[in-house]
Amino acid sequence: MDSPWRAELYWLALIAFVGLFAGKVTGLYFGSFFLSVLAYLVRHLFYINQLVIWLRIGGKLPQSSGVWEEIYYLIYRLRRRNKSRKKRLLTMLERFRTATAALPDATVVLGSRDEINWFNEAAERFLGLRKGDVGQQIGNLLRNPKFAEFLKANIYDATINISSPAIVKGQLEIRIVPYGENLRLLIAQDVTQIRFMEKVRSDFVSNVSHELRTPLTVLRGYVETLGDSDQDLPTHYQKAFRRMEEQTSRMQKLIDGLLALTKLESGALAPSKRVNVTLLLYSIRDEARQLAPGGRTLNLCIETRADLLGAEPELRSAFSNLVLNALKYAPEDGAVSIRWRDDTGGGAVFEVEDNGIGIAEEHIPRLTERFYRVDTGKSGVNNGIGLGLSIVKHVMTRHEGELKISSALGKGSCFSCKFPEKRLLRSDKSADNLENY
Ligand code: ADP
Repeated sequence: MDSPWRAELYWLALIAFVGLFAGKVTGLYFGSFFLSVLAYLVRHLFYINQLVIWLRIGGKLPQSSGVWEEIYYLIYRLRRRNKSRKKRLLTMLERFRTATAALPDATVVLGSRDEINWFNEAAERFLGLRKGDVGQQIGNLLRNPKFAEFLKANIYDATINISSPAIVKGQLEIRIVPYGENLRLLIAQDVTQIRFMEKVRSDFVSNVSHELRTPLTVLRGYVETLGDSDQDLPTHYQKAFRRMEEQTSRMQKLIDGLLALTKLESGALAPSKRVNVTLLLYSIRDEARQLAPGGRTLNLCIETRADLLGAEPELRSAFSNLVLNALKYAPEDGAVSIRWRDDTGGGAVFEVEDNGIGIAEEHIPRLTERFYRVDTGKSGVNNGIGLGLSIVKHVMTRHEGELKISSALGKGSCFSCKFPEKRLLRSDKSADNLENY
């Protein structure tokens, strides 16, 4: 038996013995027994009272005996452990807060109702939050419709750009990260400088392209005129003029492509004008058939009558790009199929499939980068400028859609442009939808 219980039994035996002895001396056995039980109870009540006072006030551990000594010690040890754990947690929390406060990005902890629980110093600077804003809903303080929609949509894999409510001409990139139970972290990065540099770069490319246009037109004019009279020229001159014509036309394509890209890069959404997709695709198919080299076949399959809400010139340029690419990379007797169909999960898809050379897996993620071209090793197969797919990607972003590429080397490729339902106009929708969109 453990020593505290042994001591406790001694106490019990002592009190019982005193009771018995008193009963024997006085002859009042019941009274003496009652008094000794009462004394034992009073002892316990005394220790309980002492324990309550100590738990409430703290201080030195009170003296006790028997099983109470053990109980006091165990509670003391538990308290001491809890105290040091609490201290450790507080130090960690303090360190975390200091680190988060020092972060250059604004960080705001949002509760389940999007109320502000905590924010760092950068949030005061970028979002204009004040200490008194804790507990308030973030949507009431950052009054921006784009932000409100983003917050409600629970989008965690994308960011939005909004103007800073606290910095003049400041631009913020906002991301929301879920964590814990119903908690969310709002992170806002100051991207003013980055956006400024992007604008400088885009303006530079646009200006250079514009400036190059006029001299190039003059040069092309002369080259064409000289080329037209090439029968009178020696063979090596004829060859030189043909090369010059090829290269100036390539430069023209480059400039046109760069100008188209700078226009699309604004980040704004495309206007929502009704685009009759069926008519558009018929016209693209007819144009492409005339340009189709060799015996390549081109099939068009329209499975949905849905129309698009967007900018027709942009969609025409993107769709034609994909169709002409497919024809370019298909074999002599190859087949290219164009499809416009409903998507299983909502929305609609424009798809171009070919049985051409295909693209190796490692190139696929990079195809939409400017000037990225796959070196096929065959001369003449790839004389493109590498801007086509970049333009397609930008057009899709402006139409809130996405471009997906699947391909197998030597077997063919499939380029799919997926449009969301909100960018579609189905015949059962009234014309009001178009106006209200
Ligand atoms: P380019 O003017 O070179 O065609 P794009 O941006 O349209 O530029 O295409 C980028 C690269 O993607 C091309 O150089 C080519 O290697 C590859 N590519 C595009 N479409 C196809 C296709 N249908 N089949 C095989 N490769 C393709």
